[in-house]
Parts: sequence; structure tokens; C-alpha cells
Amino acid sequence: DLAMYNVKNRGKNDFEFYDLNMRNKLSKEMLIKALEEEELELYYQPKVNGVTGDITGMESLLRWNHPEKGFISPAEFIPLAEETGSIIAIGEWVLKKACEQTRRWNQMTNSSLVVAVNISNIQFGKVDFIEMVKRALKESKLNPKYLELEITESIAVNNEEEVINKLILLKELGVSVAIDDFGTGYSSLSYLQKLPIDTLKIDKVFVDDIVKDDTIAKMIIDMAQNLGISVIAEGVEREDQLNQLLKLGCGSIQGYLFSRPLPAEKFKDLLIKGNQLKIN
Ligand code: C2E
Ligand code: MG
Ligand code: MG
Ligand code: MG
Repeated sequence: DLAMYNVKNRGKNDFEFYDLNMRNKLSKEMLIKALEEEELELYYQPKVNGVTGDITGMESLLRWNHPEKGFISPAEFIPLAEETGSIIAIGEWVLKKACEQTRRWNQMTNSSLVVAVNISNIQFGKVDFIEMVKRALKESKLNPKYLELEITESIAVNNEEEVINKLILLKELGVSVAIDDFGTGYSSLSYLQKLPIDTLKIDKVFVDDIVKDDTIAKMIIDMAQNLGISVIAEGVEREDQLNQLLKLGCGSIQGYLFSRPLPAEKFKDLLIKGNQLKIN
């Protein structure tokens, strides 16, 4: 399995002599320790209005600065955290942290930034998921309208009725929901149509080729418009991609073209400087 392989092949064969359960135990301990020892940190990537450069919100992206191994990508440790169950504690920490940070930034700069937090299917599937979200909102005192949750199409692995019920409860709370990496999953359109969601996030793979071939991006943008929901493009790195997206009617942009994910201090500097980004 991929997650275990990555860890194992990083050079130090720490895990090679353990059976699967032992490895899981060890990894779980590592991740819990990372949380306790404050090796986890949230970065924030601006979401901008592609025409004006105004920052409308930001996505929180988790970073693990391991004292010996250095920076470990979430693409590597999230699957591990999911397998070991530590995603529950980590995910709650992330949500609370992102909500607190956003409440402070909105207060400090008198703005209405919406923070997007990535949610794992495992987290979402927990019976007390909604309670956890309420707890984070209450403890952080963030107005729910400033919170957006990013889930993926693969949420369909959870029970359909349960997924829909939870999405309705989130809507009632005033929290919005986006489908991340849209277009890369295998969910049927009829399933998606049943989900009360607010935004589709066009995956980077469709932005990459958009200048040569905009078929899929165009389909997603048109679909969002027909469903009456918002659309945002992620992984926008070049101006020609931006221009094509604007031409297709997608004005909400995220990507290196405007800004990489930034540590909180740097993001705050941006906000203080006036909340507007120029193309890099
Ligand atoms: P994602 O949610 O689809 O996030 C987008 C990823 O693309 C991020 O990678 C971001 O840094 C990167 N990115 C943004 N703009 C560009 C660009 O213009 N070019 C390129 N090449 N990359 C860009 P990152 O931060 O490594 O995160 C990877 C994935 O890990 C995320 O994909 C998300 O699925 C997951 N993840 C991150 N933070 C969390 C978290 O707090 N909880 C959970 N459950 N998953 C998380
Ligand atoms: Mg995301
Ligand atoms: Mg994505
Ligand atoms: Mg992704």
C-alpha cells in the first residue's frame, strides 16, 4: 500500500521489521507526537478574484515539519493518518486552528474572508462529525458563513443517505461545502446532483492543459452554472490559463500565479498590505 511504501522507502527502514499492526501503531504514535510537539502547522493559500486580484478567502493546507525527516507532504502523511485513525485528532486540530485564525484575521482587518478546510472521508464518516464542526465553531467564535469544507467526490464511499443528511445539517449551520479535485473521481453525475453543495473546484489536471484543450474545464464551468453553484479553479500557474478561465466564466482562482500557500505570518502581512494580489 502506497502510504506505507512511501514511509518505508524514504531511506531509514524504520518500519521494515514490523508487521502491519506494529507499523500502524508506530505511525500513529509519530503523528500524535507531531501534534503534541507542535510539529504540525497550517499554511494558507489565497483564493482570489481573477480579475481584480482581491483575496476572497484562503485554503488551509497542513504541513509537517519533522525534526529529523524535515518537511513531509500531506499527500504522504494524510493517508497514513487515515489508516491509523489519527486523522480524527489531527482533523479536529486543523479545523479549530483554521477557524480561530480566520476569526482573528477578519476581526483585525475588518474583512469577510472565508476559510476552506480539507476534510477526510474518514472524518466526515464519523457519527459525531457535525458535533465536531459545531464545537470548532463555538470554541473559535467564527461565524459559520466564513467556513467552507472541502470534500472530494470519493465521499461516495460513505453511505449515500448519511452523506446527504450531513450536508443538509452543514447547510443549516450556515457552513458551505465544496467538492475538491472535481472531475478526477468516479462519482456519477446523478449522485452529485443529489448533493447539496455550494462549489465545484476544478482540479489542476484540467487547468494544466486548458490552453490546448478546454473541453473538461468548460463542461465543469457550464455544469456549475446550470446547477446554480459556484466554481473555482485550482493549480493556476500561468497567465494564459487565467485568461482562458476568465473567458469561460470562471473568475475565482487559486494557484501559484497569485500565491503559493504561505505560513500564517506571511499571509497576515499580505492582508495588512491591502488584501490585493498581483500576478507573480
Ligand atoms: P488539495 O486540497 O487539492 O490542495 C491543493 C494542492 O495543490 C496543495 O498541495 C497546494 O499546495 C497545491 N497547489 C496549489 N496551487 C498550486 C499550483 O499552482 N501549482 C501546483 N503545482 N500546486 C499547487 P499540498 O498542500 O501538498 O496538499 C496536498 C493535499 O493534501 C491537498 O490537496 C489535500 O487533499 C490534502 N490536505 C492538505 N491539508 C489537509 C488537511 O488539513 N486535512 C486533510 N484531510 N487533507 C489535507
Ligand atoms: Mg483542497
Ligand atoms: Mg484539490
Ligand atoms: Mg488534491
